[in-house]
Formats: sequence, C-alpha cells, structure tokens
Amino acid sequence: MAKVGFIGLGIMGEPMCRNLLAGGHDVAVYNRTRAKMAPLVAAGAKAATSLSDLVRRSDVVITMLADPASVMEVVTVAGGLLPAMSPGRTYVDMTTVSPEASREIARLIRETGAEYLEAPVLGSRKAATDGTLTILTGGAVDLSRRLEPLLLAMGNKVIHMGDTGMAAHMKLIVNQIFGTILCVFAEAALTGMEAGLPAGKILEVIRHSVVACPAISNKGEDMLKERTFTPNFPLKHAHKDMRLAVETGKSAGVPVPVTEAALSLFTAARDKGFGNRDISAVLRALTGE
Ligand code: NAP
Repeated sequence: MAKVGFIGLGIMGEPMCRNLLAGGHDVAVYNRTRAKMAPLVAAGAKAATSLSDLVRRSDVVITMLADPASVMEVVTVAGGLLPAMSPGRTYVDMTTVSPEASREIARLIRETGAEYLEAPVLGSRKAATDGTLTILTGGAVDLSRRLEPLLLAMGNKVIHMGDTGMAAHMKLIVNQIFGTILCVFAEAALTGMEAGLPAGKILEVIRHSVVACPAISNKGEDMLKERTFTPNFPLKHAHKDMRLAVETGKSAGVPVPVTEAALSLFTAARDKGFGNRDISAVLRALTGE
C-alpha cells in the first residue's frame, strides 16, 4: 500500500480521499481551508502541517485543485511542492487543467528528479463517492501502469491517453461538449416552454429521441423543473473548462465559434452570481433571474 499525500479536499477530492483510505492506503491530507481536513483525519488520514510536510510524508502526492492557476500556485509557492519533491517521489495531478499547463508542471516536477503523471477524471460527486470515476492518464505508460492499482482505489477504469497533455486535452474535449450541450438544451427548452410545451413533456420526448444523452438526463430535471442548482459540478469550474477549451482550440488554429458562444453563456451566468452553483445554472444566463 502506498504512502499517499492528498491536496484539495473539495467536492471531488474529499470522497476520492475517503476511497484511498478505504483501499487501505496510508494517506496524509492538506487543504488550504484547514477545517476541511478534520473529517478525513477522523476517518484515519494524517494531517500534514504544510505542503512540504505532506510531500515528506508521501511517495505519491496527488492534487485535486480548482484550476491551472491553483495547481501552479501549490507547486511553485515558497514552501510548496517543488522544493520538497525529489527522485523516488511521484506527483499526480487530477485537476482539470489545460494541456499547456500540465506540460509546464511536468517540466518543473521532472527537473527535481521526481515523476509526474496527469490524471484528470470523468464523473462527478457521485462517481467520486462510489469510486467509479474514469481516470485518464497522460505521461509515461509504465508509470501509468504502476500507479493503476492506486488510481483504481478512486475509479473503476484507467485509460492511458498518451504523452503528458493528452489526457488533459481529452478531459477538456468531454467538458467542451458537455457545456455546449447544456447551453443549446437550455435555449431550445426555454423557447418551447415559452410557447406552452410543459417541461415534463420536453424531457420525456428528448429521453426517447436521437438527442437523448446522460448530460441532459443528469441535468435536465434540475434545469427545467427544480432549479435548485445544488453544486455537484460548480459552474465556475465548467466556465474554466469552456475557457480552456476555447484557448486550446485557438492555439491549435481550429475555429471554435460554438464553444465561444457557449462560453459567453457561462460567463453571463457566473456574472449573475451562479459561479458556486451547479453547471445546470447556466440556464440562468437566459432567464430574468
Ligand atoms: P472544489 O470543490 O471547488 O474544490 C477545489 C479544491 O481546490 C478545494 O480543496 C480548494 O481549497 C482548493 N483550492 C482552490 N484554489 C486553491 C489555491 N489557490 N491554493 C490551494 N488550494 C486551492 O472543486 P471540485 O468540484 O472538487 O473540482 C476539483 C477539480 O476537478 C476541478 O479542476 C474540476 O474542474 C475538476 N472536476 C470536477 C468535477 C465535479 O463534478 N465537481 C468532475 C470532474 C472534474 P479550499 O477548500 O480552501 O477552497
């Protein structure tokens, strides 16, 4: 069993960490907001006193942070991961970041003699809790294979995508499509409801149609009926992913007009104050509230 250090005990990181503990791993935790460490410590994790203390306690350091900027901060801040990393240690970043950011982090980490694997995940709070995430890996294939037993404590499938950056890119593709689907679903359904079609009928017909998909079946009820927007996948992170997808498309020289249009809805919903609500709140970009 590995000595694992886990940083980032948010919606995803907390249950992922619980599954590492349930898998019998020796887990140390660290979180910017320290109060979030207490439930994990009660469940058997050790509390690190700082980022560098966490690295010293660990063979494998895992981060599940907000975005590329937060990962870069944790890696490069004084007293952060970089000065403490050393040969024999491995750093696994599971945050959704851009391929460019992942490659830069890999470069910095490998300069210390440590190994680096990117491992973004597919699946939300429930899959993180149930240990059924799909984990995409980018980096050396032998490292991915070596870490597979550890990763499978948090998920039920590991897919190696290629070199560093490829898993990060694939993860963005999935969220680029997810975010865009929800935008067109919101505008089409709201138009239908305005014309008098009941929300329930719209959802029922879509379920039986060529456009039926998990994105709509998971989020449709909340978007059209309940509107609780309970944050499982915070809109601010979906906004970040749409932004990164636009940037990645542009740097590849591929036009991304549909993703840009969807990004503008995410920006509008975020600016209306829905950043900490669920991705389903993108609907609010199109409503009066
Ligand atoms: P979250 O609940 O917002 O948690 C973010 C974590 O990052 C928290 O522990 C937070 O610490 C920490 N953090 C943020 N900025 C930081 C900084 N500057 N320095 C140090 N720590 C910082 O997010 P999440 O939903 O768990 O998502 C985590 C990542 O997984 C994101 O990249 C997201 O896009 C991706 N993802 C999410 C889902 C989902 O459905 N939620 C699914 C797949 C992938 P504090 O506690 O101090 O705020």
